Amino acid sequence: MKQKSLLYTGKAKSVYRTDAKGQLIMEFRDDITAFDGGKKDVLKNKGSYNAEVSAFIFGYLEKNGVKTHFVKMLDPRRMVVRELEMIPLEVIVRNFAAGSIVRNYPFKEGTKLNPPVIVIDYKDDSRHDPMLNDDLIVALKLATPAELKKIKTSTLRVNVLLAKLLASQGITLVDFKMEFGRGGRTIYLGDEISMDSMRLWDKSTGESLDKDVYRFNKGDVMATYNRVAQRITRKPGKAAVKPAPAKAKPKTPGKITAKRGKITIKATTRKH
Ligand code: C5P
Repeated sequence: MKQKSLLYTGKAKSVYRTDAKGQLIMEFRDDITAFDGGKKDVLKNKGSYNAEVSAFIFGYLEKNGVKTHFVKMLDPRRMVVRELEMIPLEVIVRNFAAGSIVRNYPFKEGTKLNPPVIVIDYKDDSRHDPMLNDDLIVALKLATPAELKKIKTSTLRVNVLLAKLLASQGITLVDFKMEFGRGGRTIYLGDEISMDSMRLWDKSTGESLDKDVYRFNKGDVMATYNRVAQRITRKPGKAAVKPAPAKAKPKTPGKITAKRGKITIKATTRKH
């Protein structure tokens, strides 16, 4: 496959045309940004860690019946993808309260959100990705009501699958962002799912295992990305991380919170 002209360049990825009909090359660059591009750096190998994790997750989701744009990897940072008409929505699923919803709403960090909360933002940096609702999405003609329904169903399915995959590696999926696109009449999962787009906490220590390490100067970003990529993809030769032992169920219904990854269950008495 031949890489042709640049089609689009974003904050951390570039997309190229190819000589293959309906296929593009998505290159994961080493650029890392946060706070609407207010913080920027180039971190060696970051692109390949994110590409590797995205490819692994897309492959896993495909095996479980989710349609994604992933075709194959060309090299450690270049992914061949199906060409889609991207829908400018950032679909965020939250399993625990963290990040912007803790800043914007009266949630205590680590509170379990059950059922998970889906938040959809308009992908537009010049407007700082404002939050949408279903009526606005339809009025702006960003998606039809039927497409929106499909997107939400797919979102919840991906959340269940991804949370399960990560839990088996001792990782809590706090929240993550997805983007979808149209390929004919089908809605595909596009973009990436990586340490840049997920918020992950170590189940036993509560340690951040994602871009929050970069956002908030919590430590060595590339050492974290490298370790997480190995944990998620279970590189041959590396021992799989032992899943955290199951916690005993409370005798009475309780309130569940993840204290930086540690699940604590406060028993409450039910009033009959
Ligand atoms: O910042 P906030 O808490 O709203 O982010 C929620 C999740 O969505 C995080 O995992 C974050 O990395 C991801 N996100 C993203 N791209 C954005 C905004 C959020 O990947 N533009």
